[in-house]
Amino acid sequence: MSGSFSAGDLRRMLSRLRDVMAGVGAVQGRLDKVVALIAQDLRADVCSCYVMRAGEVLELFATFGLSQKAVHLTRLRVGEGLVGEIAAHARPLALADAWSHPQFVYRPETGEDFFRSLMGVPMIQAGRVIGVLVVQTKEERPFNDWEVETLETVAMVIAELMAATQVVKREELFQSEGNALLHVRLAGAALHPGVGIGVAVMHKPHVRIGRLVSDDPVAEQHRLHNALNALRKEVDDLIDGSHGDAEAYGDILEVYRMFADDRGWISRISEVISSGLTAEAAVQKVHDDTRVRIMQVNDPILRERLQDLDDLANRLLSILSGGGMRAELPDNAILVCRSIGPTELLDYDRRKLKGLVMEEGSPTMHAAVVAKALDIPVLAQVQGALARIDAFDLIVLDANAEQIILRPSEEIIELYTAAVDARTKQKAMYAAIRDLPAVTKDGIKVSLHINAGFLLDMQGLADSNADGIGLYRTEMPFLAMPTLPDVKAQYALYKQVVDGAKGKPVTFRTLDVGGDKIAASSVSGPEDNPAMGWRSIRLTLDRPALLRQQLRAMIKATEGETLRVMFPMIANVAEFDAARRIFNLEMERHIRNGGRAPKSVKVGTMLEVPSLLWQMDALVARADFISIGTNDLMQFMYAADRGNTRLANRYDTLSPAVLSMIRDVIVRCTAAKVEVSVCGEMAGKPLDALALLAVGCRNLSMSASAIGPVRSIIRSAALAEVEPFVQDLLKSDDSSLRERFRAFARDRGISGV
Ligand code: PEP
Ligand code: MG
Repeated sequence: MSGSFSAGDLRRMLSRLRDVMAGVGAVQGRLDKVVALIAQDLRADVCSCYVMRAGEVLELFATFGLSQKAVHLTRLRVGEGLVGEIAAHARPLALADAWSHPQFVYRPETGEDFFRSLMGVPMIQAGRVIGVLVVQTKEERPFNDWEVETLETVAMVIAELMAATQVVKREELFQSEGNALLHVRLAGAALHPGVGIGVAVMHKPHVRIGRLVSDDPVAEQHRLHNALNALRKEVDDLIDGSHGDAEAYGDILEVYRMFADDRGWISRISEVISSGLTAEAAVQKVHDDTRVRIMQVNDPILRERLQDLDDLANRLLSILSGGGMRAELPDNAILVCRSIGPTELLDYDRRKLKGLVMEEGSPTMHAAVVAKALDIPVLAQVQGALARIDAFDLIVLDANAEQIILRPSEEIIELYTAAVDARTKQKAMYAAIRDLPAVTKDGIKVSLHINAGFLLDMQGLADSNADGIGLYRTEMPFLAMPTLPDVKAQYALYKQVVDGAKGKPVTFRTLDVGGDKIAASSVSGPEDNPAMGWRSIRLTLDRPALLRQQLRAMIKATEGETLRVMFPMIANVAEFDAARRIFNLEMERHIRNGGRAPKSVKVGTMLEVPSLLWQMDALVARADFISIGTNDLMQFMYAADRGNTRLANRYDTLSPAVLSMIRDVIVRCTAAKVEVSVCGEMAGKPLDALALLAVGCRNLSMSASAIGPVRSIIRSAALAEVEPFVQDLLKSDDSSLRERFRAFARDRGISGV
């Protein structure tokens, strides 16, 4: 293989490959021809194709140059040897001297003794490694980047062709379920509670690319250009609200529009087309590359934003292949997918959608936000969902118990139908008390606010009839963006929030992002511990232009209204003072420029870093309000990563430590007449909310769907009974007070425990 291999040579090789794969005869025979052709064209001594089999094992499937006896005999586990290494990391390897690599394993049956250099690339299809393609030469020789790229393009074409011919059956990659008549339980993580019963609908199984190799790159560039125009139009239509209530998702869709115009993305696709692939194959290749790169970054938020990219790439592929996105649903549909983008979810008829099951997914993904707003139960991280569930399988999705039941028996269906009916009744009950105050039986009034982050949540404010927005997470819609939108775009968004709140107070929290997210990837490298890293107020104090622009937009959006601004992750009062100074500068600038002042201004802080607990006197002297963020405060108090599922139930919010700490903060704030609230997840759990009341809290902020249950528990309890019991429990040595408190509440007929 030599550097003189040109783009024209690559195009010719790809079209020969296509002809061989499209030919007749057994798949094995065609693969044998393919590897011979690659070896010949790349002037290598060996070309081998390893294919992923059941149990994460890579099997030598075809080879030119190694011993034929090794075919179907040589097997390597993922991670074993160089081939296993390539598959494990989905990364190419190019080694002039493969033998000196520590991962090299020698397999005598292959006759590898003669081959020195090795270049291998993963074969990726629909974002998964399905095999490894390797070339080797006798002499020791380095490979250059262009050669690696060439082999990657070839591998991608073979991977697609293999998937189309089903060389390895999908079922084979997963263990058999045993008796197919028995029901099967699969566990996952609930992203939105609830129960759904229905038939499985597989979400648009990967758009099958018909043509991979093109003879006319110019025509393909035209097709790409037209498809991008169509894509922009589709997104614009969604933004313009042609799909009914789409204006509620405006901010998410706006981000999409920016992606669709991203020059880097478009020019990469265009380059791949020039190397001989069709427009759709090029979109797929660029997307697969991006996917693999992002998966290697240890950043869950960035990974989450992959769904948005998947969504956009799928849309583009679908346009290029002339297919429509919208699938007809049966009346009770449980949508099953690896992951899904928010606009894809919106493409389905939501009245027929009874649940969403995903192999991937996490709480802050955009589709989960949409599903929450539509109140569809969601179970994510269900391992093997795609392999085990077939279209039309009957499924019970029990997000409350974090499981799905496949092929449920009659009894199970009856049981769950009753549960669904009960939930419908419960919802009706919450709706009935929607306009009643959150007041205990003995007359203690509690303010209930919602946590929001998307325009979509404004609907939740109206539906729940909460008192306002206690926490508006401004970073949410922008997490996937390379830079933060300008002041004008931010102003437009905040203005919609303020207008949508119809006079109810909104507390805007300034950006809470890590150093490796918005606008910062070029400034800081990846961090070992982003939760405790250069994030949030630390980042915005160091890059004050970001903070100033954000505050400018907020001030302008609240002219003549109430402005409530809150700073996240404040660790000492000096940080609060510094942030407030920046706020004051922006306020002066606004007035100097002839702007109208907000009707009233309140500047407050989150309390989520424990160090601040020892500066309470100084803090209450300067903050207008304090909001206790128990999610972060818990993780830092207990030194327990809030995203680590293994620790999820290890420490309880209903513990003497957490409740005593909150009680002390409330006592200090109340004495200083500083407004205090709790806005972490615990505020939205009915039993926890009741305990918060017992330690003095009168202001809670939670997701909109929690307002009904919390309102209901408050209305069913007498604080004069609950308070002494909880105060007494605080003296306990137990790590969790939950069960004792629950038993107490049950005994007193308190609802929803
Ligand atoms: C918290 O930490 O409790 C909080 C409300 O902020 P977030 O969940 O956005 O970190
Ligand atoms: Mg926080």
